[in-house]
Amino acid sequence: MTWHVRAVGLPYGEDPGDWWIDESGEMHDEPIADADDLPGEFVLPGLADAHAHPAIGADGVTPLAWAKQQTADWGDIGVCLIRDVGSPGGVTLDITPTAGSPLYVSAGRFLAPAGRYFPELLVEPVEVEELTAAAVAEVDKGATWVKVIADFPNFEAGTGPEPNYPLDVIAAMIEAVHAKGARVAAHCTIDNVDALVAAGIDSIEHGSGLTEDVISDMAARGTAWTPTLSAMTALRDSPDTPAAIRDRIRESCERLGDLLPTAVMLGVPVLAGTDTYGPISKEVALLAELGLTPTQALAAASVWPRQYLGVTGRADIVTYAHDPREDPSQLDNPTAVVVDGVRRR
Ligand SMILES: [Zn+2]
Repeated sequence: MTWHVRAVGLPYGEDPGDWWIDESGEMHDEPIADADDLPGEFVLPGLADAHAHPAIGADGVTPLAWAKQQTADWGDIGVCLIRDVGSPGGVTLDITPTAGSPLYVSAGRFLAPAGRYFPELLVEPVEVEELTAAAVAEVDKGATWVKVIADFPNFEAGTGPEPNYPLDVIAAMIEAVHAKGARVAAHCTIDNVDALVAAGIDSIEHGSGLTEDVISDMAARGTAWTPTLSAMTALRDSPDTPAAIRDRIRESCERLGDLLPTAVMLGVPVLAGTDTYGPISKEVALLAELGLTPTQALAAASVWPRQYLGVTGRADIVTYAHDPREDPSQLDNPTAVVVDGVRRR
């Protein structure tokens, strides 16, 4: 199946043009015979959510037997690529993609020691001496990423985030995972992020301890950053969050507003990720609020993650009646959606 649309090419385009899209998703400006016409004035090669948890409920702590309903919704609004960054017990590794389903890049189970992550989600804790073997086991089961919880607060003691594993242990795990051709994402909210980046971590999730120096190092190494602003601002604005933590998050948000444009300028792959606080339109709006241009914010939820995760060979097409760069809420109401060559809308 091939497609034709007369539209402005997103995220960078200015003027409408005619586009023909082949089975592999490649956009051509030369006609392809018998292409099916798609409606819409703006066209994007698929949305992407680079930090999501298909196996966790919207409350952030209830494990689901990987949420078919949620993923159906993702496909319907044109989220064609989802990086799962951790699931209880690694259930997302059992996802069997069906025709027209988003592409899942799965990390398997959360890697954290007992008592050092949300207990509802940590069905199999991983102690310090088990880290490398546990990470490699997830890769052997099909994970192309693994997710290490590099730090976490101690809720019982009421203390802030502390490292979960010694740095040399994380470094050895990264080396073993890389040797198997997979990559490592780290939940990281404190200032040991410089050492994690130096140890070769592939993507920093959250990253509230980042500084301009670390951002420069990430740019040099090609380390990605998924700031998950939807999660951060939800916690900041929740009346259930203790006042001291709310203040800390407010400060972080202000700093991120300086760091995000710098990261993009230096070439750090900045990726939009909703965590458990979708939809993706909200994350795009927040990225723009915190200093990215509307075009960059949309690229962070589409072409940048596709490129960073090496996605090719899929006809993922979403069209819109109005420009989502002017109003990110347009992303919730696409005109036409094709996921991996299957028309969903
Ligand atoms: Zn997460």
